[in-house]
Amino acid sequence: MNHHNSQVGRRQFLKKGLAGAAGFGVLTLSGQASVARDASQTEEKKGTFPARVLGRTGIRLPIVSMGVMNSDNENLVRAALDAGLIHLDTAHVYQRGRNEEMIGRVLKGRPRDSFVIATKVLGEPRDRRTGLFSAETKAEPFLQKFDLSLQRLGLDHVDILYLHNVQYRDSVLFEPLLKALETIKKSGKARFVGVSTHGNMSEVLNVAAESGFYDVVLTSYNFRDQNLEALEKAIARAAEAGLGVVAMKTQAGVYWDREKTEPINMKAALKWALRNPHIATAIPGMTAFDQLSLNLEVLSDPAMTPEDWESLHLERKVGGLYCQQCQTCLSQCPAGLPLPSIMRSYMYAYGYGNLGAAHDLLSSLELPDALCADCGECRVTCSQQFDVKSRVTDIARLLRTPREFFA
Ligand code: SF4
Ligand code: SF4
Repeated sequence: MNHHNSQVGRRQFLKKGLAGAAGFGVLTLSGQASVARDASQTEEKKGTFPARVLGRTGIRLPIVSMGVMNSDNENLVRAALDAGLIHLDTAHVYQRGRNEEMIGRVLKGRPRDSFVIATKVLGEPRDRRTGLFSAETKAEPFLQKFDLSLQRLGLDHVDILYLHNVQYRDSVLFEPLLKALETIKKSGKARFVGVSTHGNMSEVLNVAAESGFYDVVLTSYNFRDQNLEALEKAIARAAEAGLGVVAMKTQAGVYWDREKTEPINMKAALKWALRNPHIATAIPGMTAFDQLSLNLEVLSDPAMTPEDWESLHLERKVGGLYCQQCQTCLSQCPAGLPLPSIMRSYMYAYGYGNLGAAHDLLSSLELPDALCADCGECRVTCSQQFDVKSRVTDIARLLRTPREFFA
């Protein structure tokens, strides 16, 4: 019941969507929807949107939302909102806070019930190699960082707060942070809480589903995932347990190659993720108006065509820029390098063109100076057949450039 896939007229969507879900018997945004800021706008934007309900939150969303991470363009975010992509996804760490501040400027003056905003906060400290929390990981810094996020956004509450980037059962259930999330939810500063994951996603989804604690899960999900069967099972299970499942990294690294000669077919990749009815909405990253247009085209016609299927090159099992975060490499590297994170940074740089995010991630890893220098031949066999040493030494060059050169 939770993930009805339905065509909703824009007017209806605006009226019902946010006030929404009466038919689903669940609570929704407190205010009645007033998404349209003036009647003419509503008239102009008739048409239909496929919308789905975000699990037990009852929030009804267009199946396409906006991942804001790589964008610093207020006008693009405004245009997305005005076109009906009312759900924006950001995080405390994106662009060192400027992403939330930029969104705050866009949201200023907009009716609070006209958008749905999600942010994410990392539990810290965490092990630089495995990402695991420790006895030092406490609730207080998490609460403080979240308060700062609200300040930057200029809001007194967000709709969804995610515990950012977790990979293991123990992290999903890490008590000090569960308490922090609970405190925040009780205070009304976040209407719903969730967990986000881009490694070991099936475990995270399964544990989140069992926990009964979370309302939403944000998971990597794309046509390139090497464990699709397990992942889709876990997604279904989470959805059936009432979690709203949001898909990210649907574009699978954006390019097949570092030189950007072969882009992934973004429309087909997004449609591929949305064909799964358990995905309530996807948050493709957008940095340009033509990407927004493409994603709106998908929103209005999400069915995959035979050409779409073909263009995804499903027969290609390895390669590309998308690191599966499978951790196969972790135990193989004698230097103990946090390779999955380094590879994610590589994808941010070459796939997303976001050198700032790549630099931030790399610097957070406290890497030694001369990476791979003592190794001769690389001992790592990557499940995607990446040439790990050359990627590591290539991306490590970024660290020699001061951060202020990047947005
Ligand atoms: S670098 Fe390769 S082995 Fe390591 S996590 Fe990524 S895909 Fe898996
Ligand atoms: S060359 Fe390979 S095995 Fe050696 S440190 Fe670099 S990544 Fe690790």
